[in-house]
Order: sequence, then structure tokens, then C-alpha cells
Amino acid sequence: MAEKIGIAIHGGAGTILRSKMTSEKERLYSKALQESLTAGWDCLSSNKSSLDAVERAVEILENNSLFNAGKGSVFTNEGTHKMDASVMDGKTLKAGCVSSVSNVKNPVFLARKIMDNSPFVLLSGKGAKEFAEKMNLQFEDDKYFFDEYRYEQYLNAIRGDSVELDHSENTDGKKFGTVGAVALDCNGNLAAATSTGGMTNVKFGRIGDSPIIGAGTYANNKTCAVSCTGDGEYFIRSVAAYDVSALMEYKSLSLADACEMVVHKKLKNIGGEGGMIAIDKDCNIAMTFNSEGMYRASRKTNSDIEIKIFDDN
Ligand code: ASP
Repeated sequence: MAEKIGIAIHGGAGTILRSKMTSEKERLYSKALQESLTAGWDCLSSNKSSLDAVERAVEILENNSLFNAGKGSVFTNEGTHKMDASVMDGKTLKAGCVSSVSNVKNPVFLARKIMDNSPFVLLSGKGAKEFAEKMNLQFEDDKYFFDEYRYEQYLNAIRGDSVELDHSENTDGKKFGTVGAVALDCNGNLAAATSTGGMTNVKFGRIGDSPIIGAGTYANNKTCAVSCTGDGEYFIRSVAAYDVSALMEYKSLSLADACEMVVHKKLKNIGGEGGMIAIDKDCNIAMTFNSEGMYRASRKTNSDIEIKIFDDN
């Protein structure tokens, strides 16, 4: 049995301006993060696996329209919702990922089913939906995913012919993002999960980093578990999540130093904005970002719960 258990979650990083944050909004975000963190923590403290914990924490965030994942997913150029998600098991290095799927209530469940019940790692679109049906996952109609605010975001993006990250600067401060969780369980196993609705007004079947193992998500019991959020293209080009693990494994960097190097040097040097949450096999937690803010929370044995949005709080 490991001496310590721990979990960290995020709800997106980006241009989250303090000037546009009301105390009511802050309260809602904090409440949502707390709810997700507690659900994940309850799994870990009742000796469930880190995989169960990250799946449960992400499920809660997917069901909350504050975040750009599941119910709160943004609109694509065609006015649809296409969702991506991934999970990775640090013990076996197994992974399950789904891309561009519609109407599945919880894409993170589908990613887990792909990992546990198929010989594949990444399924997409129509085929992924067929597999979800076969697994008896819950579906919701388009109405469930409709959100007035997101629809306005979409119309604005269409007018300006722009593709927008959910939390990019020219949206009005009501910015929410991709979600993710990483955890260490009582057996010393690490796991990571990430889920997203992608980018508003996105075209041509673009896929970001979230469903790509090594880019947006990675877990390895030898090193750490990582979940990313930000400009997906840069995270893919940097193989960001895996790079944290590789820096630890091959260069013996600490978790904090590896995250710092990837987020503040490697990503920044090529213009990539965003952040990541990570936990290592010794239960160290890092929540590192190079943007204005990142919705984030963490809890571990013998430490206080941390729920933060900006750099300093
Ligand atoms: N990384 C996600 C993507 O590029 C977006 C986000 O983090 O909000 O699809």
C-alpha cells in the first residue's frame, strides 16, 4: 500500500482575466472544482483505483456546463458538438481515446471502455459512436448540449471567421475550458484523464491534443500522470505530457522542474499557451501554466485542499 494518495484536476487554462471575474462566477467555479475533487478523492480514499478516481472527477466536470467538455462543449463550424477524451493507466500503459464523437453524455466513459473493452487505443466519429452504443453508454440529444452563451460565442466566431479556444482573449470573460484529472491511488498506481469540446467554430475535422496520448494525456507508474489544457497544436508538437515523463525518467528532473521546463520553456518558446496538472509516484503535485490563469484544484494525504484560478489564488 502506498503511504499517500492524491488527486489534481483542471477546468482549462487561458486568458482568464481577474477584471472580468465576479465573485459569483468565482464561487460557481470553485464549487464545481470542489465537487469534482471530492468525488475523485472519495474514490481514492475508499481504496478505488486512480483510474476510477480520474474518470469520476472528469465525469462531474463533463456534466457541468461551466466547462468545455461533455454538456458544456462548444460549437463546431457546422453548429454541432464534437467531443474528444482520453484515459491512460500508468500501471499497464494501456490507454483509451475518443475523438470527434457526438451525443455521448460522458466521453470519458467511452475512452475508458475503449481501453478496457477493445483492442484499440483511439476511435473516432461514427465508429466511436457505434462502439459507445455497443457498450450501452448513455446518449443525450442535441438539446442537452445546447447552451445560449456557447451559441453566441459560436455566432461571434462565425462573424469574425475565427476559430477560438474557449478561453481566448476576445471572448468576454465567461471562459471555461477543457477538463482533466490525474491521481495516485493506495496501490501506487497513477492515471490521467482529459476531456474537451475542442475549439469554437472549428473546421475540417481538426483534432487537438486532448485525445492524443503523449500530447494532452500521459501516465506511467515509473514517473508521473499528466493532463494538459491550452493551444492543442503546440501541445501536440511538443509531445508535452510525455515530455514531462521523459524528463523525469531520462534526466532525473523532479516533477515540478519537468513541468516548469515544458510549460515555461519548451511550449513558450514555440508560442504555446496553456498549462498542465501532474502528479508523481511520490504524490508530489504540480499545476503549472503560462497563461493568465488555470481552473485547478488538488488534494493529497496530510495536505490542505487547494482550489485556485489565478497565479496567486
Ligand atoms: N487543448 C484543447 C484543444 O486544443 C483545448 C483546451 O485546452 O481548452 O482541443
